[in-house]
Amino acid sequence: MKIMNSWKDPSRYLQHIHVEESCLQLAYTQEILDRAGLPWSVVADREEPVRFDCDYPQNLGAGKQHLFLSINRGQFFKPCPGTREYQCCSYHVLNTGMNCPMDCVYCILQAYLNNPWISFYVNIEAMLSELDAALDAEPDRLFRIGTGEFTDSLALDRLTGLSKILVEYFARKKNAVLELKTKSAVIENLQNLEHNGHTVIAWSLNSPAIMGREELRSATLAERLEAARVCAEWGYKLAFHFDPLIDYPGWQDGYRETIDLLFQSVPKQSIAWISLGALRYLPKLKEIGIDRFPGSRIFFQEFIEGLDGKSRYYRKNRTILYRHIYTLLKERAAVGTCIYFCMESREIWQEVMGYIPDQFGSIAAMLDRTVFPVGKMPRP
Ligand code: SF4
Repeated sequence: MKIMNSWKDPSRYLQHIHVEESCLQLAYTQEILDRAGLPWSVVADREEPVRFDCDYPQNLGAGKQHLFLSINRGQFFKPCPGTREYQCCSYHVLNTGMNCPMDCVYCILQAYLNNPWISFYVNIEAMLSELDAALDAEPDRLFRIGTGEFTDSLALDRLTGLSKILVEYFARKKNAVLELKTKSAVIENLQNLEHNGHTVIAWSLNSPAIMGREELRSATLAERLEAARVCAEWGYKLAFHFDPLIDYPGWQDGYRETIDLLFQSVPKQSIAWISLGALRYLPKLKEIGIDRFPGSRIFFQEFIEGLDGKSRYYRKNRTILYRHIYTLLKERAAVGTCIYFCMESREIWQEVMGYIPDQFGSIAAMLDRTVFPVGKMPRP
């Protein structure tokens, strides 16, 4: 028996594809079925694709082996659901599907979703029309848009080839930049694309111990960084997200190791932005995480309820984490790389970075400057 020792491509976890009846005739559906080479079956419209012996969320491990090709009957494109209480970066989310074949102990989707399978929306012509309408309606506004909010941007890309469609679409859009965010190393479809500098390829990073223990079926640190190096060679801008930062015995050395390897692996000038965000979660997630991953210790810390109703580390502990990691990054990063906090308070910005985003316009303005060259920027 072949031993699986790498999860560079987590789509290999899939066992079965279910196709909503009204999608069956779409050429895109057929392409995906051909590329996957997996057993597949048809599901009547609006019916559940598969049933399991146990209930959600206990069925998530099995559910993630099932891919459901379906129609998105709602909106594809929305502002990121930031909260007023914390400093947000005015991101937009392109919803291409739900759930992913990896399994992170801290994954917030476990608490958001009701179904265990992975959904992927095949009515992409509707998606692109909706995008056209939104981007064309505000030609003077800059949009940073990500597909990694409700799924991983590249985990299914070997089957879907969606990255190629999106990269080529965004290359033609003057007022938008796409961010593809992943924990995989599935980059093959990104080669030889005319991206025109309008796609940023991003990796979520953590310490090697957290990646190994808490992110099941994800690519290793070395695999993610090698993929990033190759993407930089292909001319893509890169981004990295240290999120969630986790407070555990030895975190200082763990994060130092990751940051050292990051800057040994990729040219620092290729990095557009790096975000930092300490572990935060809906209270419901703790119960699910402890139940599904009894060996994990990440929920056994002291937390307080934040202004957004999510549990967070105490401010003093967040500041200690951030100071250490921000210092390591700042010493190594290029001057033009924007290092920012995802959903943090003004007080934390001031304490750790010594300024607040308002002094530079806003987080959005700081990020926009890294990808839209001054002079070519549409009016913000
Ligand atoms: S890779 Fe992202 S979407 Fe997938 S399980 Fe982990 S946190 Fe959730």
